[in-house]
Amino acid sequence: EALVRWNHPDRGLLLPGSFIDAAERTGLIVELGRTVFHEACRQTAEWRRAGIDLGVAINLSARQLSDVALFDDISAMLTVTGLDPDALWLEVTETALVEDVSQAADVLHRLAATGIGITIDDFGTGWASLTYLKQFPVSALKIDRSFVTDIDLNPQDAAIARSILSLGEELDLVVVAEGIETVPQQQALQALGCMIGQGFLFGRPVPAAEVPIERARRLRRADGLGDRTRG
Ligand code: MN
Repeated sequence: EALVRWNHPDRGLLLPGSFIDAAERTGLIVELGRTVFHEACRQTAEWRRAGIDLGVAINLSARQLSDVALFDDISAMLTVTGLDPDALWLEVTETALVEDVSQAADVLHRLAATGIGITIDDFGTGWASLTYLKQFPVSALKIDRSFVTDIDLNPQDAAIARSILSLGEELDLVVVAEGIETVPQQQALQALGCMIGQGFLFGRPVPAAEVPIERARRLRRADGLGDRTRG
């Protein structure tokens, strides 16, 4: 997953929490989104050209989803960077207040038709979850970290995760657990049948140059995951 950081000259390394709201408010999120998009696609295409079968997930803001130029922008970005659409996942957060859901659904359907995967991020936290599942061409769900943190201790969290996994199975979706930090969390998720996860247990966010890319190469080979296998 591509994550943005701002290396601020005075304040040091800033996490998205300290600037995304301002970017959303001012509309700069569109330009920021474009920059992140271009860099993430360029880097992933470079890794893939080096023979590493990786995909990339990129978060979309509600503002971007409402941008009429989104489809053309993404298409152009894929052409310019040479990234295969099958290697790209777009994450739509459930808490994003999309004003015009049918317009967003329309653009997401056009994007999905090119081979791009659509993920619902932070699943279970928003009010729109099931509406989005119904209207958007979703191929993956991410179980929100708030259900993962105590999953090994709290039966309620485990029950919620189990329900999301069964919903995913019914709808033929890839289900990814977010925010895994400990082995007991990982084991609890595995016991529920959740086989894909992300979080500090596996790796902290790092600059592209520090991504343990050879490890990714070995993992992909060991898993036998093919090109069309999402996630
Ligand atoms: Mn995300």
